[in-house]
Amino acid sequence: MARSLSRKKYNRACRSIVGGVNSPVRAFKAVKTAPLVVKKADKAYLYDVDGNKYIDYLMSWGALITGHKYPAVIRAIKKAADKGTSYGLSSEPECELAELIKKAFPSIELLRLVNSGTEAVMSAIRLARGYTGRNKIIKFEGCYHGHSDGLLVKAGSGVATLSIPDTAGVPASIAAETLIAPYNNIEAVKRLAEKFGKDTACIIVEPIAANMGVVLPDKNFLRGLREIADQIGVVLIFDEVITGFRVALGGAQEIYNIKPDLTILGKIIGGGLPIGAFGGKRKIMQFLAPMGPVYQAGTLSGNPLAASAGIAVLKYLIKSNPYPELDKKTCKLVSGLGSVFEAAAIDVQINQIGSMFTIFFSCNPVSDYTSAKLSDTLKYADFFRRMLNSGVLLPPSQFETGFLSIAHTSQNVRKTIEAVKTFAK
Ligand SMILES: *Cc1c(COP(=O)(O)O)cnc(C)c1O
Repeated sequence: MARSLSRKKYNRACRSIVGGVNSPVRAFKAVKTAPLVVKKADKAYLYDVDGNKYIDYLMSWGALITGHKYPAVIRAIKKAADKGTSYGLSSEPECELAELIKKAFPSIELLRLVNSGTEAVMSAIRLARGYTGRNKIIKFEGCYHGHSDGLLVKAGSGVATLSIPDTAGVPASIAAETLIAPYNNIEAVKRLAEKFGKDTACIIVEPIAANMGVVLPDKNFLRGLREIADQIGVVLIFDEVITGFRVALGGAQEIYNIKPDLTILGKIIGGGLPIGAFGGKRKIMQFLAPMGPVYQAGTLSGNPLAASAGIAVLKYLIKSNPYPELDKKTCKLVSGLGSVFEAAAIDVQINQIGSMFTIFFSCNPVSDYTSAKLSDTLKYADFFRRMLNSGVLLPPSQFETGFLSIAHTSQNVRKTIEAVKTFAK
């Protein structure tokens, strides 16, 4: 498959945009190939500037559960645009979106809309600190919560060790406020709680991890976090930017029946336009300005185009309940892929829930960041490139999640399995 135009356009972008991309993973560094430059997309397909067509399992990193260019979403955006693109004042769509979110998430009594998941997390952390009067946060290795300073931190050696920053530009003093525990390790959280409980504002977690590839929570992990949070009086935050409206209408908290104090949303709730949201218990949320002392604001927050797109998606999801069908389709895909890999004696672990899946090139079950890291990333890169050349776009890193949408057909699934068969040979 020729991608010379993509290469050319990417090289051009490199002269004006840092690294040619506006988000690092788009540079395809982990899969060692030139990135795609997209021309357009429709339903389950992505078209690059060279005219190649791909079955898209990236779906804008999970934002598009109804597939590309879903008619009701496009109509909603056009209708909203006819009334102007931004007012910087309150409008009706933002309220309707908030009501739809509240209906799906009983744990959310009040919420606020922002412009990205990063912004929502950053604001929720400030709120948790303002509410508790404490500074430290507990997060988990391999969980991603956007790129704000305190959250770009992974474990140093040893569980209770104070962390060092993952990236240049984060002051060590800020990173030191972030405590790290391995995912699915409730004992480690207990130890942190004993030592730092009185200084800790919140525990933040992806209730189903999706940013080290898909990693499911152990049976008692989330319940254990709820108990510890209650014991030491800290705010439990579920980051459901991916899982919200993805694994069920009410996200992972519905599936596992655990109520966090605050929930972070993003991606799906904007129907492919920039958005984020955070919300939860009234007694915490009312600490936020203009009700309370914790400041947070945004010129474009609650933007009528993004809110209208989000409303169209959520209304569809509420009306159609596509989740059983999505799950069935995805199970078909992963069981098909599993058989192909097994027949070819290629060691993989496929983690899946609903329409989310990751193929780890590893012979060890993947239950946390350490086990995810045992995967053969070179093999994944080779797999990614061959699949791309067969017209199948997978996540451009071993440590990301693949997504299906309602637009993916059984024929897409069959074609994908055929492509993997060719790879396995
Ligand atoms: C994508 C993501 C974010 C960040 O959202 P952005 O809109 O990219 O800032 C935060 N948390 C999780 C779990 C995510 O997957």
